Amino acid sequence: MEREQNILQIKNLSKYFGGLAAVSDCSLKIKKGSITGIIGPNGSGKTTLFNLIAGNLKSSQGRVSFNNEDVTDVPSYELFSKGILRTFQIAHEFTNLSVLENLMMVPANQSGENLITALLKPSLVRTEELAIKQKAQDVVNFLNLTHLSNELAGNLSGGQKKLLELGRTMMVDAKLVLLDEVGAGVNRTLLKDLGTAILKLNKEEGYTFCMIEHDMEFISRLCDPVIVMAEGSVLFEGTAEDAKKDEKVIESYLGR
Ligand code: ADP
Repeated sequence: MEREQNILQIKNLSKYFGGLAAVSDCSLKIKKGSITGIIGPNGSGKTTLFNLIAGNLKSSQGRVSFNNEDVTDVPSYELFSKGILRTFQIAHEFTNLSVLENLMMVPANQSGENLITALLKPSLVRTEELAIKQKAQDVVNFLNLTHLSNELAGNLSGGQKKLLELGRTMMVDAKLVLLDEVGAGVNRTLLKDLGTAILKLNKEEGYTFCMIEHDMEFISRLCDPVIVMAEGSVLFEGTAEDAKKDEKVIESYLGR
């Protein structure tokens, strides 16, 4: 029943900007092993909710728990070490480094970062470096970017950069990945590759994803369930197909 557990639980979460409740008494659960889509009209509070979950904003009220641990208002770098990653949170690509080098920059807490270890145990540092390089190569192969391993990241297309960003989450021990409009501005072919990579990571590596998206085709292919937000809280939860037919959902989009 592992897959039925909730990895994230949000209870009565609110965020006020002055008098405006961007997120308002919002409660939801993200199931471990799911790819959960968050949709909703502009201004419905999706980004604010992500900012609250990812530690980029402090809440006004309510609780967030991750694997049954209270992580309300925990800063993003601490969440990162617990395994919650937001795609934009990872530094943008280093344009003058290759794809492989960009991936190798991600892992934290290597012995090489500790000067004493580097001086006393250079062989340990070397072994770790080789392991990281191998891991980076595996990630590149996984994402079908093998032909671009040595290409400068700055020369990649927008969609390839998104794949690289996803690859960076694979270099650390991510448990919950928050994808913020990862499909935006990506051409159809690469969007398909991106979707395939997300599905593969979910099915084969057990990643849980929570993604804000606008592209309903992309969402229908990947997400179950879909959570629809309106006016800062959850309006609907169910399959993408059911969301498209739900009267309240349709009204919330039309009533903008
Ligand atoms: P969405 O991502 O669904 O478009 P947002 O979370 O960006 O929605 O915004 C929800 C509401 O909160 C909107 O009315 C928006 O104008 C407001 N809002 C978001 N961020 C801020 C902010 N930093 N200061 C004031 N109002 C904000």
